[in-house]
Amino acid sequence: MKKSYLITPGPTPIPPEVSSKEGLPVLHHRTSEFGAYFVEVIEGLKYVFQTKNDVLLISGSGTGAMESAVANLLSPGDTAIVATSGAFGDRWCKILETFGATVVAVKAEWGLAVNPSDVEEALKATPQAKAVFCQLTETSTGVVNDIRRFAELTAASQAILVVDAISGLVGQDINTDAWGVDVVVAGSQKGLMTAPGLAMASVSERAWKLVEAAKNPRFYFDWRKMRKSVPDKETPFTPPVTLVVSMAEALRQIKAEGLSNIFARHAWLAQATRAGVTALGLEIFAKQPCNVLTSVVVPAGVDGKKIIKKMREDYGVSIAGGQVHLMGKIFRLAHMGYMERFDVIIALSAVEMILHELGYKLELGKGVAAAERILLNKPQPAVQPAPVLTHV
Ligand SMILES: *Cc1c(COP(=O)(O)O)cnc(C)c1O
Repeated sequence: MKKSYLITPGPTPIPPEVSSKEGLPVLHHRTSEFGAYFVEVIEGLKYVFQTKNDVLLISGSGTGAMESAVANLLSPGDTAIVATSGAFGDRWCKILETFGATVVAVKAEWGLAVNPSDVEEALKATPQAKAVFCQLTETSTGVVNDIRRFAELTAASQAILVVDAISGLVGQDINTDAWGVDVVVAGSQKGLMTAPGLAMASVSERAWKLVEAAKNPRFYFDWRKMRKSVPDKETPFTPPVTLVVSMAEALRQIKAEGLSNIFARHAWLAQATRAGVTALGLEIFAKQPCNVLTSVVVPAGVDGKKIIKKMREDYGVSIAGGQVHLMGKIFRLAHMGYMERFDVIIALSAVEMILHELGYKLELGKGVAAAERILLNKPQPAVQPAPVLTHV
């Protein structure tokens, strides 16, 4: 018998009520039946993005939404600032360079958040910059950035703020309108508890001005076409209809729990995970750790790649390793989306057992016990959950 556990920072586990919707007969996308799902998903996403801005549905994974942001906001030769301290920040640089932008990279060491005062300096030194690109949570290192502060800086400048919230959305607060974030991109397969393949972007009026002026080539990913088809309750091209239908269910569950309660749950699971790994004598890699995943330094003398491989093959537990130069040096435990306290216990227990097998000296159960002490106390509901949307 082989049971598997998905503890990776994307894709993430999916509630059975959500995955079962994928098995329903496929709808035609130019029908009122699909239109009702489309409207429900857009409205649900506006709740999750905390915005009244346009939200566009994009067929593709999160990177597709990132690329669409670059294609729609800039022209060849434009200057863009990228706040980066990890693999996904670096991905912004690569996409921008692909489209002929001049990139000013504001870097921080991997494991640190990008310092807002460095962004401030870059904005002053580069008044021609059209946009600042960044991550809410840098998934390669487990760090959270100070998006609220970044937004204050861009609001006072000529540049717009574009945030990759692909792993952070739903688990880590990003108050798009209150903070003044212009563009937020996300994907279905992380906090949104849906299968991979659907991405989305919220676009402010300030950003639409750039979209209208941008000269980068785009056809399939043209945000103007997407915006135009919203009143008709459809997408310009065939969307992944099954994902839209299943995401409607995921969004119902998110609304029923309530965003503030979801943030509190993620903070709680993160706190327990950190307490567990720390109790084992392990070091947390991120200096400003986010609430959707925990990155852990592989202890000296242990083969980091073996941890990942053995855990998957022998225990059926999938976690993530390090990327780029962190390969073999860290491992990453997700606590995002459809996760509850026993997902944390499974992850910590598997870590203890594997490290024990690989010769690291630890007391079995010590990490689990530290987490349990936190997990005994469920966070109090912060607010009354929002009313559940009526089913379509
Ligand atoms: C997962 C992730 C991406 C890439 O998303 P894909 O869906 O794999 O294209 C981009 N940025 C961040 C921060 C992510 O966590």
